[in-house]
Amino acid sequence: MSEKNLATAVDKRRTFAIISHPDAGKTTITEQLLLFGGVVREAGTVKARKSGNFAKSDWMEIEQKRGISVTSSVMQFDYQGKRINILDTPGHEDFSEDTYRTLMAVDSAVMVIDSAKGIEPQTKKLFQICKMRGIPIFTFMNKLDRDGRDPLDLIAELEDVLGIEGYPMNWPIGMGKELKGLYDRYHQRVALFHKDDQGRQYLPLNADGDLAEANDLESDSWYTEARDNMQMIEEAGNPFDAAKIASGDQTPVFFGSALANFGVQTFLDTYLEYAPQPADHHTESGEDVAPTDPEFSGFVFKIQANMNPHHRDRIAFVRICSGEFDRGMDVIQERTGKKLRLSNVTEFMADTRENVETAVAGDIIGLYDTGNFQIGDAIYTGKRDIKFEKLPQFTPELFVRVSAKNVMKQKSFHKGINQLVQEGAVQLYTSYSTGDYILGAVGQLQFEVFQFRMQNEYNSEVVMEPMGKKTARWIDPDQLDERMSSSRNLLVKDSQGNPLFLFENQFAERWFKDKYPDVTLTAKL
Ligand code: GDP
Repeated sequence: MSEKNLATAVDKRRTFAIISHPDAGKTTITEQLLLFGGVVREAGTVKARKSGNFAKSDWMEIEQKRGISVTSSVMQFDYQGKRINILDTPGHEDFSEDTYRTLMAVDSAVMVIDSAKGIEPQTKKLFQICKMRGIPIFTFMNKLDRDGRDPLDLIAELEDVLGIEGYPMNWPIGMGKELKGLYDRYHQRVALFHKDDQGRQYLPLNADGDLAEANDLESDSWYTEARDNMQMIEEAGNPFDAAKIASGDQTPVFFGSALANFGVQTFLDTYLEYAPQPADHHTESGEDVAPTDPEFSGFVFKIQANMNPHHRDRIAFVRICSGEFDRGMDVIQERTGKKLRLSNVTEFMADTRENVETAVAGDIIGLYDTGNFQIGDAIYTGKRDIKFEKLPQFTPELFVRVSAKNVMKQKSFHKGINQLVQEGAVQLYTSYSTGDYILGAVGQLQFEVFQFRMQNEYNSEVVMEPMGKKTARWIDPDQLDERMSSSRNLLVKDSQGNPLFLFENQFAERWFKDKYPDVTLTAKL
């Protein structure tokens, strides 16, 4: 591909994630977006997958039982000349680490809020990750077909709770049973809500923001209230600021109903006008990698095993940061310096996993992996030694001691543990004194999934002995004396061999610091 063609192709890419608290409507809105993208499948398939009818592997039974979505996947489609990549994120907080890493691979985010509930804990947590990255965030206030909170309150809450300015792009005219439509400030029109025609009837507004043609709506109290609110916001609200949107300091807010498919398409169209194309990626050497750099580069942000129960495959998800991917190309793996040929690759066009021909910066490819990759691995072509900034890690808080139930089956136990740790499903530690395996996680559900998968995928029944909450603190190996360890601060090694203490509680940590004032402890590596 010529440099010009590469630039044009990169320019078309829009790669984003939808973040929300469970039940806010992420699945429903994703389905609507796929339908607009002409993805040939019926509304309900994403849902069906979530409820288990579409289960791609047996370990998803756990999702089915719990009614949660554990896995993230990638959906790609073309819409209005753009190539859209939606990265799905698990909603359950126990899997926030997975979501965290996925958010490192997107250029913007859509935040879906249930307008009856406002900002919920998981939304807040995910928002903060996006905020830290400084990516644009667009807000969809969902479930307008039900009675919700005062829209003014919802906008104020964005600023009060999240510290981001809200810029309403439209305003509800009534809600719940009284939902009449949306006053679309941005497009200078009113979209009328009729249950069946999905809001495609519009009344134009004149330059003053009033209805351009006489209509019964004019005397409707819901309309006049919406009109008044809009006017007030026009005068006293935040001015539209594209630079602030780009830096994640202002969020355009759209009201609508995903279920009634009202306001969703307008949202998508407007979103695509402002959503950024692939951005530069920072490297540890400080030099940025531009997406239009002709040399290929990317990083693994997720590894997922056994997506297909018939193949027992494992897929490393790579976000392409620069250049173009060609099947069969040779790349360097930064961590090992090894040369790898990328021949067995998949992309995520619609629902079928088609073999990739060309993918460029912004796209996600899936590499069939036999154990070569780890999360965070960079791959690239060309002479530059590219080391992307490290993917941030959550420090685990919950720990269990783990062993194989059947001592004769150590081999499958080790294989399973190693693969699942590489996948980032849990963190593995080894006790200095006993050599025991200790697993660390952010949430209890991660252990349950681990146990389930060990049994189902590696035929290894594991015994887990809960150790409760611990505070993990790394220590400089040069300062370490094994005699520092006690029952209240267990000394372990992480999977890279770095030493750390697992403190029983804050008191134990304070006691340690008093006793060894010269030792530096760090919360993260
Ligand atoms: P997720 O957990 O965020 O993926 O949420 P879902 O998309 O599964 O939606 C949770 C529930 O809310 C489901 O029962 C949906 O049918 C319902 N729901 C989603 N969007 C709307 C909406 O706009 N209006 C109403 N009334 N219900 C909705």
